[in-house]
Amino acid sequence: MIPPEPPVDCPLCPRLVAYRAENAHREPSWFNGAPPSFGDEGARLLVVGLAPGRTGANRTGRPFTGDHAGWLLYETLIAVGLARGEYQARPDDGLELIDCMITNAVRCAPPGNKPLPVEEATCRPFLAARIAALPRLKVIVTLGDISRKNVLKALGLPASAAAAGHGVEARVGRYVLLNSYHCSRLNTNTGRLTPDMFRAVFERARVLMDA
Ligand code: URA
Repeated sequence: MIPPEPPVDCPLCPRLVAYRAENAHREPSWFNGAPPSFGDEGARLLVVGLAPGRTGANRTGRPFTGDHAGWLLYETLIAVGLARGEYQARPDDGLELIDCMITNAVRCAPPGNKPLPVEEATCRPFLAARIAALPRLKVIVTLGDISRKNVLKALGLPASAAAAGHGVEARVGRYVLLNSYHCSRLNTNTGRLTPDMFRAVFERARVLMDA
């Protein structure tokens, strides 16, 4: 049985292990491991990102924490009532997720924020186990298209089983998949994703969670 969380020093992807060792050598005070999923084990909503950023989750040990993307994600979750507290980009900021969990399709930081397809495939059993371990799960918000494809494959479906696109939703077995553009600096700086567009996804997620 694959557990829902890989070990922090997961040995499965040689390139990611080497990158982790390089980061640990350069920045020994950083977390430098696979940050565990963050949130509520009774969650009805799972948010799936891509992979930890080197200076974000790989540094702090909590998904999206310290990453540029974390500001928009956590502030949006607070605004729609899926988190409480104040996000301060530190894992000890006391922020709590409500009915919500955040994980990543690939659990270790990849060079250049780009996991290889083989690394996605190697990590996918953990994503499948993460989904399966949430007994109340109803809605999965995918951040970016790599996340969408990995969630579908983790559910045993082809990546074509649900359409891509911001705000597009699809029923997949007992879940509803709801796609969002990734809240990356590139997408927010170029205006491809605005705070309002992002918030609308989570407002919709809340409706679907109660449906
Ligand atoms: N940080 C994460 O943990 N995941 C992402 O997808 C991006 C930043």
